[in-house]
Amino acid sequence: MKFTNEDFFKGIILFGLNNATYKMGLAQTLLKASRSQQNIIHWGDLAENYFDIYLNRLKGSSMPQQGNPNRLTKMERIVKEYQLGVTSRNEAITKVADTAFEDVVPRFQTIGSDKNIVAEYFYETDTGNKLILKDSLLQLNTEQQDTLESEVNARWCLLEGAFSINQTNFKLANDIREIYLRDGYDRKALTSNIPFLSGYQGNTCFYCGEALGNDIHVDHVLPRQVINHDEIWNLVLAHGDCNLLKSDKVVGKHFIEKLIKRNENIMGSNHPWKAHIHSHLGSTPKRRSSNLQNHYENVKSVLGTYYWGGSESYNPETDPFYKRLITALNNK
Ligand SMILES: [Zn+2]
Repeated sequence: MKFTNEDFFKGIILFGLNNATYKMGLAQTLLKASRSQQNIIHWGDLAENYFDIYLNRLKGSSMPQQGNPNRLTKMERIVKEYQLGVTSRNEAITKVADTAFEDVVPRFQTIGSDKNIVAEYFYETDTGNKLILKDSLLQLNTEQQDTLESEVNARWCLLEGAFSINQTNFKLANDIREIYLRDGYDRKALTSNIPFLSGYQGNTCFYCGEALGNDIHVDHVLPRQVINHDEIWNLVLAHGDCNLLKSDKVVGKHFIEKLIKRNENIMGSNHPWKAHIHSHLGSTPKRRSSNLQNHYENVKSVLGTYYWGGSESYNPETDPFYKRLITALNNK
């Protein structure tokens, strides 16, 4: 059986394993390069073309680009930040170049799970620098390029359709995410908050209540991937393992109440960070409580019932198995 270049390209598109649409974006970028007969694409140009393809794809009422309803792909995030005016075009393209290709460029030339059959068939990679395109890509004629482009587009639509099945209110979730993206910022180093926060937590883990050892992590109670900031009112200390197990899941209301109390303890002190909480959540305990609960409701609108432990009432502090395991992990 002899396969043509077109067959192999089609094989990548149709028989790929797709957790997200990254391969479709790269396929379109490569076809564009094939049309313009470039045999080298510099990393910056690759990023710019890739960015423009996603920018075009995501304008108007866009569809989800991956299957997990609780996350955004890097490209969705980068394009949104640009659309909202948070980043400039150049900043957005630099982010694409720095963060968007680590998975897709090495994995693109795969059919099904087979990494050998089309390895380096269409391009060779000089990571962070350039792609060297092969004749197998450059020799596709216009008709083949057109056919492949419509195959890519059809497959892309199919993936978006499949990804949207689990997402009951993608539009609402997207609107809420945008609010936080607009006011958000890139992650800061958080370890400097540890001494301060430990004063308000009595050196115990916020989640399981066990003593904190040396492996202390600063955790965002409302997941950072939605709220997009590192404000102190949302930060607590936790064991590394508790932090990892909770990850970006929603916690039950009892933890929100605990967080509100913790914040009020800070408000009762004279620490300069008092002013931060004051300006972000409000001037009275009642306002702060209701603002924090609004953020919690927003997060639930985005993440749905993706609760830690599977239910709203789950509390690792009252789960004997969890406590036993965490104690064992911390004493290893
Ligand atoms: Zn813990």
